Amino acid sequence: MKLVFATNNVNKLKEVQQMLPNSIELLSLKDIECFDEIEETETTLQGNAKLKADYITKNFGYNCFADDTGLEVESLNGKPGVYSARFAGEPANAENNMQKLLSVLKDKEDRTAQFRTAICLNIDDKQFLFEGICKGEILKEKQGEKGFGYDPIFQPEGYNLSFAAMSAADKNKISHRGIAIQKLVDFLEKNYA
Ligand code: IMP
Repeated sequence: MKLVFATNNVNKLKEVQQMLPNSIELLSLKDIECFDEIEETETTLQGNAKLKADYITKNFGYNCFADDTGLEVESLNGKPGVYSARFAGEPANAENNMQKLLSVLKDKEDRTAQFRTAICLNIDDKQFLFEGICKGEILKEKQGEKGFGYDPIFQPEGYNLSFAAMSAADKNKISHRGIAIQKLVDFLEKNYA
């Protein structure tokens, strides 16, 4: 069975393909010649994941899944959440976003936060949602060189290392996206392998 992952991020694609049974062939947006800019206009992570998966199924006719991730900071009432990619405004990049978050949290005692990933799967005219959460805290300064996004300032619960100081394999085992994708893979193996 062919299944589209609504992304062009090669690292995400490779990681998921390795976890899937051989009977499922993963396709990227490029593979199906979708070069459209799918705007994430919803106000929830689930909403954006659904919007992207629905766009592909409706316009390209494929079974498809899409993901969306946000960083939810307790003392900011769950912000930046669904707006994590654009937290610092323009230009939207990881360095600006991290500096903005460090500055907003400068005098805050409570630095607890969590990453949340929502996945929406459209398969054979049915829709399923999966979620993964990784709890942790926002560090006072950047640590580590690996990973991407907010990784240098996020330390998962029970660890003394930021995500950016861990190997990709170690991060994937405990990360929000790793957990959500494992739920998706278990579901596909059980019902569609
Ligand atoms: P997206 O949903 O993967 O596009 O991510 C939304 C925002 O969250 C972007 O600013 C990403 O850089 C950030 N983000 C997503 N996943 C991670 C992660 O695993 N570590 C750090 N930042 C992340």
